[in-house]
Amino acid sequence: MDAIDFSGLPLPPEVRAAMERIKDPARWLLENKIRTYNERIEAPDGSGIDCAVCRNKGFVAGLDEDGLHMRVRPCACRNRRMTALRLKRCGMLERAKTCTFDSFRTDTALQRRMKEIAQSWLDAGDSHWLAFCGQSGVGKTHLCTAAFVQAVARRQLEGEYLLWGPAIREIKADLFDKGAEQLDRWKRAPLLYVDDLFKGRPDVPLSDADLRLAFELLDHRYNNALPTILSTERSFPQLVALDEAIAGRIRERCGPWIVSIAPGAEKNYRFRGDGAV
Ligand SMILES: [Zn+2]
Repeated sequence: MDAIDFSGLPLPPEVRAAMERIKDPARWLLENKIRTYNERIEAPDGSGIDCAVCRNKGFVAGLDEDGLHMRVRPCACRNRRMTALRLKRCGMLERAKTCTFDSFRTDTALQRRMKEIAQSWLDAGDSHWLAFCGQSGVGKTHLCTAAFVQAVARRQLEGEYLLWGPAIREIKADLFDKGAEQLDRWKRAPLLYVDDLFKGRPDVPLSDADLRLAFELLDHRYNNALPTILSTERSFPQLVALDEAIAGRIRERCGPWIVSIAPGAEKNYRFRGDGAV
């Protein structure tokens, strides 16, 4: 930046005196600009993060390498802030605080194994799915939530969450307008968590419409290798009995990251990935 000549400007004497004390006006202006940026406090963004460094802007200003220009860099809080906002957008921010890997109780061998599988899924490629199938009450939703939150945080993905029963009723109620738009958003979401897939009494058959919607959603994600997390009270053999095409896609995309727990007997569980179903 060129030095600015203030000598011709009609400035008050005290300002002129202050200016004369500044040896390098261009540098002084630049530092002032940086200070002004850094002191500006941003309104709360809903992330719940209060950062004294960037004053909640998510960015910090400083000099660039040549020392002649202002450069704005991401603050250390920025990734956490973006993660919190992503979780908030899909309604998962509050659950994310309680359903963590650390807070998951591993009283049984099954729960320890489930946790290992969920954690190792995070290191798998983006195209892999994670599924917990079968008996309720062993922490499937807790672990799926923890895995979802960590995937949003580590991969910086926009995630979508859907609770199968209410979500599917909403879609069916308005399939040709907002319902179709919503379904499309779930199909295309960079990360999707389907909670309680095919929730319902096991003795009541699912409707063809429910199965068609599930197929449309999961087939799109299967074909586009989009990461997906699933929890369901149906065991894997029950999924196969319901719809082989859907079950086959889930099994193929999950690879070793699927757990199927036989109904009613926590000890009687099997893991996919070793040839067992
Ligand atoms: Zn910050």
